[in-house]
Amino acid sequence: MDDIIEESQEDGDLLDNTSEIITFDDVDYVVGSWDSTAHNGFPALESYESHNPLSENGIKIVKLAAIISDKELPGFDTYPQFHGFMSKKVGTPTYQSNYIASYIYLTNKAVGLYNSTTPSAPAGLSSYDKSGIDTYLTTSSFNGKTWTTLLAGNTVNATNKALFVYGIAMHSVTDLYAHSTYDKDGNYIDHKYVSELIGADTPSVVSNRFECAEVMAQILIAHIKRFESGDISDFYTVANVPYDWSSFKLGRLSTYAQQVNSSYYNTYKDVFDIMNINK
Ligand SMILES: [Zn+2]
Repeated sequence: MDDIIEESQEDGDLLDNTSEIITFDDVDYVVGSWDSTAHNGFPALESYESHNPLSENGIKIVKLAAIISDKELPGFDTYPQFHGFMSKKVGTPTYQSNYIASYIYLTNKAVGLYNSTTPSAPAGLSSYDKSGIDTYLTTSSFNGKTWTTLLAGNTVNATNKALFVYGIAMHSVTDLYAHSTYDKDGNYIDHKYVSELIGADTPSVVSNRFECAEVMAQILIAHIKRFESGDISDFYTVANVPYDWSSFKLGRLSTYAQQVNSSYYNTYKDVFDIMNINK
């Protein structure tokens, strides 16, 4: 399977042709992500605010990046910043990874590309997480691939570069609800949860996780429409609206929210804490 994917990547098929991506759906070749159907569906959702979707071009470009991180940087415990995971466990050094700060920083990078400004690092972004992102995502490339390659025939301009990076952020922040969740009894929902066939990446397993991922994507779409950064309030809204407290818990949510903005966290502590599990 890996050979097929590599061949397809060399040919550019996966980037050029949406139908090629869909042919991989049944195979679920990526362990450590919502399946590609799910990821490819998020960019076409309606904005949480206006209830309008992105423009046709917006959907197309965000979708180009929908599973790029699974192809270029697979391994959520190796590249946690790109797959909504709580820590870097593989390689040296290992460290806790603040998925809220990483998400905001990824969207700051999108905004920076749009405005040709230098993205700021949010509070709570450790030097490890910053370097975990900056090493692979520069103003000119992602994992060494240039914009011409990444944008696959679409116009290389500030808007499309920004949309692509928003797509990378969308992948990670929706992966969060696949990778960093625990069931109501505190058991980690991993890829062997329930059975080897239906684990963490399956939307129907503890399905409220997927509902939360969809709302998070919709909230991000509202930001994308304004070419603005993501915010800690995005995590509050998910915890307050679609989240079913009897369904699952999100690892280290409260700790990470506190690191990013302690006064905001303190104001909404009750909402964050009910979704949180200390791990
Ligand atoms: Zn992923």
